[in-house]
Amino acid sequence: MPRRDDSAWQTCTLCERQVPPGMVTLHHLTPKQKGGKAEDRTPVCRPCHKQIHAVFGNADLARSFASVRLLRDAPQLRSFLNWIRKQKPERNFRTVLATDHPTRRRRRNK
Ligand SMILES: [Zn+2]
Ligand SMILES: [Zn+2]
Repeated sequence: MPRRDDSAWQTCTLCERQVPPGMVTLHHLTPKQKGGKAEDRTPVCRPCHKQIHAVFGNADLARSFASVRLLRDAPQLRSFLNWIRKQKPERNFRTVLATDHPTRRRRRNK
């Protein structure tokens, strides 16, 4: 009995893992508040998305990280990406929020 539909899986543009549909969210490369449009969105998995917003504010994103390439190369995300690439794609994380865009949250862990 097939439990997953592989064709519906998507690639996270940040960590490049294949993740199931429920794990994919759209990130605005240029935040909406900064004039980002629908075309500026890119699919990223939930853990990556959460990490992006935990590390960068909208101003940083708009100014310095408005492309997937820049995010991938960001030193602030390097150790996270090395770690997440080894995690199972189905794995959801306890801390992951149900909403897609935690714009008002600013977390400091570490
Ligand atoms: Zn990811
Ligand atoms: Zn986002």
